[in-house]
Amino acid sequence: MDAINVPRAAWMSEDLVVLEDQARRFIAAEFVPHLDRWNEEGIYDRSVWTRAGEAGLLCASMPEEYGGAGGSFAHEAVIDREISLAGFDSFGGSLHSGIVAPYILNYGTEEQKRRWLPRLATGELVGAIAMSEPGAGSDLQGVRTSARKSGNGYVLNGSKTFITNGQHANLIIVVAKTDPTLGAKGVSLFVVETDDAHGFRRGRKLKKLGLDSADTSELFFDDVRLPAESLLGTEEGQGFIQLMTELPQERLIVAVNAVAMIERALALTIDYVKQRQAFGKKIIDFQNTQFELAECKTEATIARVFLDHCIGRHLERTLDTTTASMAKYWLTDLQGKVVDRCLQLFGGYGYMDEYPISRMYRDARVQRIYAGTNEIMKVLIARSL
Ligand SMILES: Cc1cc2nc3c(=O)[nH]c(=O)nc-3n(C[C@H](O)[C@H](O)[C@H](O)COP(=O)(O)OP(=O)(O)OC[C@H]3O[C@@H](n4cnc5c(N)ncnc54)[C@H](O)[C@@H]3O)c2cc1C
Repeated sequence: MDAINVPRAAWMSEDLVVLEDQARRFIAAEFVPHLDRWNEEGIYDRSVWTRAGEAGLLCASMPEEYGGAGGSFAHEAVIDREISLAGFDSFGGSLHSGIVAPYILNYGTEEQKRRWLPRLATGELVGAIAMSEPGAGSDLQGVRTSARKSGNGYVLNGSKTFITNGQHANLIIVVAKTDPTLGAKGVSLFVVETDDAHGFRRGRKLKKLGLDSADTSELFFDDVRLPAESLLGTEEGQGFIQLMTELPQERLIVAVNAVAMIERALALTIDYVKQRQAFGKKIIDFQNTQFELAECKTEATIARVFLDHCIGRHLERTLDTTTASMAKYWLTDLQGKVVDRCLQLFGGYGYMDEYPISRMYRDARVQRIYAGTNEIMKVLIARSL
């Protein structure tokens, strides 16, 4: 799927080219044939996780000693891109491998890393991160979920909503207040293994505009008793700093998906307008079509170059919050615009479910909302002015 011709990024090493090819083949053979059914059923099979684990598509950037593939963020980016190019945007693998696992790797104790990372890499554990609540999304300091000290451990109470992987997840990082009087300094992260967690309950799999087979859900914690080792790391009150440190990578992951979807939309549309006819000629032969696609291709090219630049900087550990926020905001905005313009060129077929561009139009919308809304991205960028 090469709708644009940008040279390979400097960070795209030979082993990443091999990974790209392996991931593409595996996804095409194992996942793509089931996408329609999963979308119909509103949830993809649990076995996707173990199959992805067997194929090395989970935790590729985790060290080998913890069950990962010993790669870098570039490995995650290559896999995420292939998932998006194949149209499986509902899969929460990028969150599991690129967000949940890094929290444990970067802040967990040695014992916590050994306990959780290998099982995340195989798909035995499915990860989720529960920040948002019915009353607090952008303003994370406003979370009301509490973790009260009790004996040697904690008692967790609260409710979370919009949680990706909410039905399949059995390892959930929960944002909770350990001291409600301290504001940001009273926020801590807890790792909750849900299989035997008394008082934990999954709510509805939420009905939503797009990402039909994604199990975005409500979660409830009623007097859930947690051992002391559930606190991520060893010190309370570190949650907010940990979140702020990790969020740039989450934003970059969203940007990777945005650019992949832009390229997919463009490729599908170019293909379509070369076949469809009106007024005795192909749709591509109208100058309007050519101009629309020329503009989209130009913007897709700029998008890819900027994304590759950001990934390169992230790999060198020099990607700052401002630039990561720019990537998330600008690339997801562009995704919405390009997919909309592409859909228009499909005419009525673009509105029909059986044409992927229709689903992409719905799936694209949330990209401007989650992982920090695009307005919050602008707030962060504005701080650098
Ligand atoms: C499909 C899906 C999956 C998600 N997955 C997860 C997940 O896995 N884990 C998780 O924790 N959350 C998840 N979320 C939640 C998501 O991160 C939040 O919806 C998002 O952060 C916005 O929070 P909110 O919905 O409470 O909106 P609000 O914070 O209520 O915002 C409402 C509007 O006000 C604007 N606004 C708010 N503050 C400001 C400001 N300071 N300046 C200007 N404008 C502002 C916002 O931009 C928005 O337009 C998911 C959401 C969706 C839809």
